[in-house]
Amino acid sequence: MKKVLFIILLIFIIYLAMPHIITDKNKVYLNVHEKLIVPNYKVKIFLLNTNKKTVITENVDSDKLGTYYINYKYGIINHLVLVKVVDKTHPYIEFCGPKNINLFDNTDFLNYKVHDNYDTNINVKVKKYKDKYVYILKDKSGNKSIVERKITNEDTLAPLIVAPSNIFINEGEGLNSNFYAIDNSKEKIKVEEKNIDLGVGRHILVLKAKDSKGNVSEKKVNINVLKKLKKGYIYLTFDDGPGDLTTPTVLDTLKERGIHATFFVTGNGSDSLIRREYDEGNSIGLHTMSHIYSNVYKDPKSYFNDLYAVRNRVYNITGMKSDIIRFPGGSSNTISKHYKLGIMSYLTKEVEDRGFRYYDWNINSGDAEGKSKEKIYNIVTSKLSHNRPNIVLFHDTKKNTMEILPSILDYAISNGYKFDTIKENDAEVKQRIFN
Ligand code: ZN
Repeated sequence: MKKVLFIILLIFIIYLAMPHIITDKNKVYLNVHEKLIVPNYKVKIFLLNTNKKTVITENVDSDKLGTYYINYKYGIINHLVLVKVVDKTHPYIEFCGPKNINLFDNTDFLNYKVHDNYDTNINVKVKKYKDKYVYILKDKSGNKSIVERKITNEDTLAPLIVAPSNIFINEGEGLNSNFYAIDNSKEKIKVEEKNIDLGVGRHILVLKAKDSKGNVSEKKVNINVLKKLKKGYIYLTFDDGPGDLTTPTVLDTLKERGIHATFFVTGNGSDSLIRREYDEGNSIGLHTMSHIYSNVYKDPKSYFNDLYAVRNRVYNITGMKSDIIRFPGGSSNTISKHYKLGIMSYLTKEVEDRGFRYYDWNINSGDAEGKSKEKIYNIVTSKLSHNRPNIVLFHDTKKNTMEILPSILDYAISNGYKFDTIKENDAEVKQRIFN
């Protein structure tokens, strides 16, 4: 009997003499993506703390569900702590569109996005009741969310007013307004417009539309009233420049006679020439930066990139944002058909909607087609008329133009013509559109 007691006592003493690792927790539940905090531990020998070194190893991937262990090692003694990475977060649903399902507005009850911290494929059940939709979401770990969405049946959508942002009319012309509105109620909606002053310049017209449920919408339209170009005047226009070898002489010729012109510039030539054109009182219009047909008429985006590029060039040089443009080849060009059918019909409307005005010509000097100086002189002088504004197309990049210009100007001056530039509020000059 004594022997047995002695053995029990001996085992107990050996047990106490062995190091014991004691941790705060023996199991850790970690929500997925949460950071692991390793539980604190103590090592005891004979019930006393020791502070000898314990090696802790763990291989927990908290971004992946699963069971892991933390191992505390002191000499030959190991102690394991279980770590379970679990998903405790509920999925949630985000509705696109109105808060309630509006039968009147045809709210799409299936237009939603589901979010979850872990699962990419969340099961969604949609149940329809008389007065609500219930969305039941469940992730793979069994986390559930139930969201209700009321069904209403009232008209909360305002009518949509259909009108361009910018409208151009010439002074003396009335506003031929074809504004209309569409509404979800299918009722006919009247568009109200306030009377505005139609003097030269830009005016804001406020349009209002209201449906029978009292939903109101408003749209502002810029009405640009333009001044007609003057009869018996010559509007010299020079495209494609500046040309470093030719534009300085063209500018000298104008300056000597106190005449101003309009330059539809490109990416060509020196900045200083655009500066000089501007400083000497000429008007600066935009022709496009590259003037490469296959590029500018490839699609509307390419055209506008090119247009805004030259607009920025002019702005950087002069500090002035030009809104007057001339299309490469004019609005009547057919070359654009090779790149995009119908693009001129589209662009001529779109430039106006963006607030630009475009100017074609009614006298083509023929200088771009390589005509002789004599030919250019004859064409221009024979077509000038006192009974209309004369918008003459030249290119200040052409040597023949530079050389014959003084004679043409002298002819015009001695025949009583006056000159002016094309300015922001001048009526557009439009040719027929063929593409
Ligand atoms: Zn051109």
